[in-house]
Amino acid sequence: MRSKAVSSSPQIPIFLGSSLRLLCLSVLFFGNQPLSGVARSFHVGIEYSKAPECKIFAEKSKTVIEEWYPKINEILFGPDHPLPTDSITLVCEPMKPIAYSDIKKNRIHVSAAFVSTHPEDYGTVVHEFTHIVQHYAKLKGDEVWLQEGIADYIRHKYFEQDIDSLALAVDPDRDTYRKGYRVTAGFLAWLQEHSKPTVIQDLNRGCAEGHCTVDLFLRSCGKDVDTLWSEFTNNLKQVPPGGKLHKKE
Ligand SMILES: [Zn+2]
Repeated sequence: MRSKAVSSSPQIPIFLGSSLRLLCLSVLFFGNQPLSGVARSFHVGIEYSKAPECKIFAEKSKTVIEEWYPKINEILFGPDHPLPTDSITLVCEPMKPIAYSDIKKNRIHVSAAFVSTHPEDYGTVVHEFTHIVQHYAKLKGDEVWLQEGIADYIRHKYFEQDIDSLALAVDPDRDTYRKGYRVTAGFLAWLQEHSKPTVIQDLNRGCAEGHCTVDLFLRSCGKDVDTLWSEFTNNLKQVPPGGKLHKKE
């Protein structure tokens, strides 16, 4: 279920309920090689005074953000792009949504109840602060699916390292690229491999510049998004049960 606040506000929540299936528990780390480029300093704050039980999660989240914030900035924008903010704060508190990000204040809010049941779900933190890196200040309601797809692409390609399973989980007959989250992320990963290696940066830069429309796919990949989705789903239909998507040589 898409929340009302997802549609146009810079606050991007994930609500309890059906969206819970979107969250993964596994935590893997992205290599050890340092990324080149921006070395600007920044500060990561944590607040959990309203939920002291979040202490361990908040402290670990701080180290995750410190490690991944510059990496994700480089993945999305390239090595010479400045960090969008010098300060990110993670707040763990009692609240109804699972998590949301406030890109005006550069704060990530996580539900204390969610943390109690998912004490190692740092993938959710990565998804949320990717929105701060994206910083799509002019995003319209019908463009949120692409923002969410890119955030889940980052989460699952680099942090969870299970992006291949996302594409294979797409239902080619029922899903659409506008579903966002894992479905769009799986599609983007397929495009990155099969159509245009720079598609993620191309889409991200367009969205960050305030033009987060499907025209970005045509500009990046040379084909419209519906044609690309058909190619993706046709490829999916050819995969036997338990098989893998063809890897480009
Ligand atoms: Zn999101």
